[in-house]
Amino acid sequence: MDNFTEQLKKVLSAIWKFIQFILKYLLIGARHVLKFLNDKKHLYAIPLFYLLITSLIIFVAVQVYQNYIYEDVEDTYTMDFSNLDDVEEEPEYDFASYDFDGVHVVIDPGHGGYDPGAVSQSGLLEENIVFEYADALRDRLLESNAEVTLTRELEESSELDERGIEGDLFISLHSDTFEDPGIHGYTVHYAHDFQIEFAEAITDGMAVHSPMYERGIRENGYQVIWQIDYPGVLVELGYLSNPIDDYILSSYEYKHEIVEGLMLGISNYID
Ligand SMILES: [Zn+2]
Repeated sequence: MDNFTEQLKKVLSAIWKFIQFILKYLLIGARHVLKFLNDKKHLYAIPLFYLLITSLIIFVAVQVYQNYIYEDVEDTYTMDFSNLDDVEEEPEYDFASYDFDGVHVVIDPGHGGYDPGAVSQSGLLEENIVFEYADALRDRLLESNAEVTLTRELEESSELDERGIEGDLFISLHSDTFEDPGIHGYTVHYAHDFQIEFAEAITDGMAVHSPMYERGIRENGYQVIWQIDYPGVLVELGYLSNPIDDYILSSYEYKHEIVEGLMLGISNYID
């Protein structure tokens, strides 16, 4: 055992001497380096300064590129075109199907001809805007087996008393203006008490589909609905004096939705 201890002590002291040797030369080396750095500042200070500045510029440039520029480039190149074949050229409208067989709907596109009505902010005339909606409503009603009569065709004039055509349901379409541009939304007007139920059905249908604000139903003795003896409404689809309503109505962005609101209203009333 003593022998082994002796051996171990020798090895440990050898290791310790070796470590001391290394440390000594490291210290000497460090002292030499420090002395060199201290004495020869004029040789390296300026290159070192430029090296640091250059590194800093490169570092900042790389950060800027990675965080602001590279991401954009990556987005441009990582667009996925694999679903291109699935994209429809025309949006398809998959709305409810109705059967209005035996129902005669009279659609009255407001104004027309010598009376253009209000003007949208993009210069479209109310007579043409509401005709677009009347025409689309006519298509949907015919698809649903209803009988349809329009009180006027495109850019045609029609006197108010000529619009009192016999039918089962009467819908007059308008998109007027108001002096206060803040006024917006659709309003459903009726002239007689026996028209209230139809007015409520139409406003409820519009509430489901129209993106605009619901202003409710109003009693108003407008001639076109006052002169008929069956359920009829005058719908102000929205206000061309309000920028949002105007955009929605005159861009026809939501035409199919709004027409679908009228269809649902008719269905609500008939059922
Ligand atoms: Zn009008």
